[in-house]
Amino acid sequence: MDPFPMIRLTELRLPLGHDRAALEQAIVERLDIAPDALEGFEIFRRGHDARRRGRVVMVYTIDCRVRDADVVLAAHAQDRNVVVAPDTRYRMCIYDGARLATRPGYSRPVVVGAGPCGLMAALVLAQMGLRPIIVERGKVVRERTVDTFALWRKSVLNPESNVQFGEGGAGTFSDGKLYSQVSDPRHYGRKVLEEFVRAGAPEEILYISHPHVGTFRLVSMVEHIRAQIEALGGEYRFDAHVDELLIDVAADGARHVTGVRLGDGQVIAATHVILAIGHSARDTFARLHASGVEMVAKPFSIGVRIEHPQSVIDVARYGTRTPDPVVGAADYRLVHHASNGRAVYSFCMCPGGTVVAATSEEGQVVTNGMSQYSRAERNANAGIVVGVTPDVDYPGGPLAGIAFQRHWERQAFLAGGGRYFAPAQTVGDFLAGRPSTSLGDVVPSYRPGVTPTDLAACLPDFVVAALREALPAFERKLEGFAMADAVMTGVETRTSSPLRILRGVDGQSVNTGGLYPAGEGAGYAGGILSAGIDGIRMAEAVALSLAGRPVDG
Ligand code: FAD
Repeated sequence: MDPFPMIRLTELRLPLGHDRAALEQAIVERLDIAPDALEGFEIFRRGHDARRRGRVVMVYTIDCRVRDADVVLAAHAQDRNVVVAPDTRYRMCIYDGARLATRPGYSRPVVVGAGPCGLMAALVLAQMGLRPIIVERGKVVRERTVDTFALWRKSVLNPESNVQFGEGGAGTFSDGKLYSQVSDPRHYGRKVLEEFVRAGAPEEILYISHPHVGTFRLVSMVEHIRAQIEALGGEYRFDAHVDELLIDVAADGARHVTGVRLGDGQVIAATHVILAIGHSARDTFARLHASGVEMVAKPFSIGVRIEHPQSVIDVARYGTRTPDPVVGAADYRLVHHASNGRAVYSFCMCPGGTVVAATSEEGQVVTNGMSQYSRAERNANAGIVVGVTPDVDYPGGPLAGIAFQRHWERQAFLAGGGRYFAPAQTVGDFLAGRPSTSLGDVVPSYRPGVTPTDLAACLPDFVVAALREALPAFERKLEGFAMADAVMTGVETRTSSPLRILRGVDGQSVNTGGLYPAGEGAGYAGGILSAGIDGIRMAEAVALSLAGRPVDG
């Protein structure tokens, strides 16, 4: 055993409003050591437990250094809340990247897409000295912000520069929630968070259990990451839409990537291409499918955004308005299994935020949510979505889920009356099965605007039935949830990718060598953090391949 291990202490509970001395004392008491035996400690995780209304408590995971650690560990051998802290430091998988990159004939890896997956992939490749080229169809983040606001404020959509497309990817105009439930045995999530802190995120994201950074900070973080990648020899191409993946087919049928062709005809030669294009690159999915890249349809979810006054959610969760700034505006997570066999659940909940127009295609309406770091807006919002599956709901091959999404997004546009207004309905009217002709006290935050109507016109019948059953069930869990004036806006369709591009344990497409499908669009992530984690995984797979070393899975 390491003679000086850090001890990890979990489930340490303290009341709201305690100070650091109280935390220190709690550690000493739990470990049953003398106060001077505690040599130092850091908070690994800080969360709160609000399950008992009106009795919110703080819950800590602490990493501490104590005198005679092995003796203390032995004394707590039966206590699963006292263990040796794992080593979460990131170590590169190759250290000779810079030398590799100067070899004659070296082919720089190309990363398609500058979302969280592409950015983390490119950053790690650049840190290894491999000088990646990042190709992004949209614009630099500041210019993209102007285009995104043009949709929200003036009903003008730029199909290449919007909430989905451009530097920073889909999560740039978001709540910036930075947690994930993916399995992460190598602690890559920690690396992602550390890089985000280096790029300007608050340090607290390293330890609070449900961290978020808000949209404002994300914009400058993305710029910092770009500066770092460029300083390390990486290169960006913006307004560079990858139109075609160039593939060499050998006499025996084996396929290998040779580069990418951009919209202006320019070719970038490459033997390694990380494809991190997000879930909305429908044109690119179609081109890849036509060129024979193996992919399958996968399940996703569809539904609406719901808005309540944040105060209603706070009171339902905490028994009072936000009890403590450390705890912040309340969130929720709800699931209901409907009698028609469908799972209904809350998705991407944004406390104190706004509902945003998130389409990337003309003549369609898509909702999503975002917030600022302060989460101080009047309304809470979340997607309330219902699971849909290929074969049952959209048979017809890998691209059928996209056609399904497009259909309902178009219906939402029509029901909204054009100009990218979203159809909206109060919960009271939705449950009563009558169209809304006006809205109540809850003012919807979606811009450019909403049209009161009947949401049943832009959702499949089984989704409507499942939602009608779920809302009263959610009311029983969270008082006020089915309040008559709560507003539902539609439609929420871009919950995850409708397809998966198949890859092997070495990260490469199962039938196209040198292609590394990555992140949310390829079906390997769902959210900013998991997309970043997958980006690191694929960067390592590329680095090992360039170095001629096997990937250990
Ligand atoms: P993306 O972020 O989608 O990035 C893909 C990039 O590829 C884009 O920049 C796109 O322009 C580019 N691209 C696409 N096609 C091409 C092409 N042919 N050529 C060149 N470039 C191309 N997740 C969270 O974890 N927390 C949140 O709070 C959160 N809030 C969200 C709020 C909103 C409004 C939205 C839309 C999403 C939110 N998400 C959130 C989801 C999150 O943004 C995604 O899971 C994440 O961005 C996926 O990362 P990615 O890198 O795989 O893909």
